[in-house]
Amino acid sequence: MDYAASLLNHLPISRRGTGFKNLLGKIGYLAPSQLDIIVDAYEFGAQAHEGQRRYSGELYITHPVAVAGILADLHLDYQSITAALMHDVIEDTPMAKAQIADRFGQEIAGIVDGVSKLDQLSFDSRAEAQVESFRKMMLAMVEDIRVILLKLADRLHNMQTLGALPADKQHRIARETLDIYAPIANRLGVYNIKTNLETLGFQYTFPYRYRVLEKAVNKTRGNQRQLVRKISDRLSNTLDEIGITNQVHGRQKHLYSIYRKMLEKQRSLNEITDVFGFRIIVQSSDDCYRALGVSHTLYKPVPGRFKDFIAIPRLNGYESLHTTLLGPNGIPIEVQIRTEEMNRVAESGIAAHWQYKATDKQIIPPQIRAREWLKSITEMQSAANSEEFMEHVKVDLFPDNVYVFTPKGTIMRLPRGSTCVDFAYAVHTDVGNRCVAAKIDRRLVPLRTQIKNGTTVEIVTAKSANPDPRWVSFVVTAKARYSVRQYLKNLQHGEARDLGRRLLNQALRDAGSSLRKISRDRMKSILDELGMHDTNELFEKVGLGERLAPLVTKILLETPSTDSSGTTISSPIAIAGTENLIISYARCCHPIPGDAIMGYLSAGRGIVVHRTVCGNLSEFRKQPDKWIAVNWEEAIEREFSVEITAEILNKPGALAEIAARIGDSESNIEQVSIKDRQEEEYADLTFLILVRDRIHLAKVIRRIRSMPVVKKISRNCA
Ligand code: MN
Repeated sequence: MDYAASLLNHLPISRRGTGFKNLLGKIGYLAPSQLDIIVDAYEFGAQAHEGQRRYSGELYITHPVAVAGILADLHLDYQSITAALMHDVIEDTPMAKAQIADRFGQEIAGIVDGVSKLDQLSFDSRAEAQVESFRKMMLAMVEDIRVILLKLADRLHNMQTLGALPADKQHRIARETLDIYAPIANRLGVYNIKTNLETLGFQYTFPYRYRVLEKAVNKTRGNQRQLVRKISDRLSNTLDEIGITNQVHGRQKHLYSIYRKMLEKQRSLNEITDVFGFRIIVQSSDDCYRALGVSHTLYKPVPGRFKDFIAIPRLNGYESLHTTLLGPNGIPIEVQIRTEEMNRVAESGIAAHWQYKATDKQIIPPQIRAREWLKSITEMQSAANSEEFMEHVKVDLFPDNVYVFTPKGTIMRLPRGSTCVDFAYAVHTDVGNRCVAAKIDRRLVPLRTQIKNGTTVEIVTAKSANPDPRWVSFVVTAKARYSVRQYLKNLQHGEARDLGRRLLNQALRDAGSSLRKISRDRMKSILDELGMHDTNELFEKVGLGERLAPLVTKILLETPSTDSSGTTISSPIAIAGTENLIISYARCCHPIPGDAIMGYLSAGRGIVVHRTVCGNLSEFRKQPDKWIAVNWEEAIEREFSVEITAEILNKPGALAEIAARIGDSESNIEQVSIKDRQEEEYADLTFLILVRDRIHLAKVIRRIRSMPVVKKISRNCA
């Protein structure tokens, strides 16, 4: 008696007769120590489900045991089998994930937990158009492919026992199986499970069609049996004769694929089942081609039907030769030729990479395994279809996207890393602009929270709310970023309006008037004269420097007041350093707080602040009405760029030394440029650094000047 079978004798009577004996019979391929763990997991599961029964009246534990059996048929590793025995424990019993992790380790607990998370998704009320998104969401939620394999096995057993459920449930679950689970099994290449899911799904979704078709197919098959026997013997014997070890199987199309072909091609049953299928299994890919040659000499091939999936494997790694022959009496014969290994991959797909191998010593993390699988099939792909491949397999298994539900159940796809704000903008720009809070699975979360696969996201909006400029720092979608920026741009107009109003009021006050003192009629006629719609437009233009406040004042008052020299006097505008959008600082002279400054009204840019010592001033002085007096407000809370140049001894490490010194002085370097001098031992280093004001700058310069490598240092000014 082998070890697996002997284990049963140690179990109490109450734990027998649940199908576990059958399972033990299937897992003889595992190592004894792994079998012990499986028995332990069975005990754990049986205890957790104690007293629970299925719809059919059977003990609940029979279900996990059967699911484990399906995975054992695929020869999956012991972790998968162990997890299968406990897969409904978290959901159905109070036992926590922590307990499983404690007793069986993180890896197995992770698989069980992954399955429980998938169970929480429900597709009931979702629109049909979203089926594809839902499948992707499921795959995206899973970090370990074994979770999907387990989920597929779970679904398969539920389908096998569906008869015990009420009819309406049967129909819903069967439909879901055809829509969601069978396509996933197909995509992962787990054909055994896929075929069974489809047959059962078909049976319960369209019971009547299924019965009629089944009857008709059985009848034709009965008639064909002898012919099938004859053809397969002929193929097999001929291969034997030339020394190719082979097995030839007559192949039956399963009902659902016959049904679908009839629908798709609008053909009658006879036209479809009149096709005989054979599978030839040989020992090497060389033999595959030789067997192909043999078949082509026995029966004439149908032109254009030969496909070489060994040279160019299918997207999921499927390899085989396909050909169609003209059999006795002109009956088409479909033949698949492959090796045993190819057959194993064809039947189990991605599961083949999770199969137990006694030689597997080290533990390979699940993601790496999945990547290996992916890599192995990428290498098999020709360059021609690799793009398509990426689209289908890679995108699903290693998704760059997250899939979430709206409160109404619509599935939204967003790039990985998206936050609640991205979600809000994806729903609608207005929702984004008005969002104030977010809920994930009905719990309030900060707006910057990243959204997770499979959750339901709800956005709370308020009519008066506006985008927060800080969102720009964390949103990841182009739409969200664009929308926030767009809002800020509009805000810039608002800021320009405010500045324009201030400028105009100031100019008016200098002239002994004010905006309030201008009558409505007067303002309206001036606006008409200037071709503007309203005062806001006027303010905005003034703020952006397109209209000059003193000139507008002159027009408004008709008799402007002047000083003795004829120049308009105005008191300076205070600069706080926060008017980023409407006040900028000249790059020629880099003014900083403490410098004497002047403002120049520039069309479209608002006020550009220059130092009064700036060399460019003489040119600008020719347009006196564009000048505006400005001064610094006290206590400015920001940093300004300023340019300094140091003449230094050109030796290794000098730059690093100075840079370090600048850093020590609480200043940051924005840019550095180096210019070699004629005299080779010296170089000019120019730094653009950030300082708070003149006092701060003086401190930085002092500290640099004290360095031995520095010959000279000064602030630059155009
Ligand atoms: Mn289950």
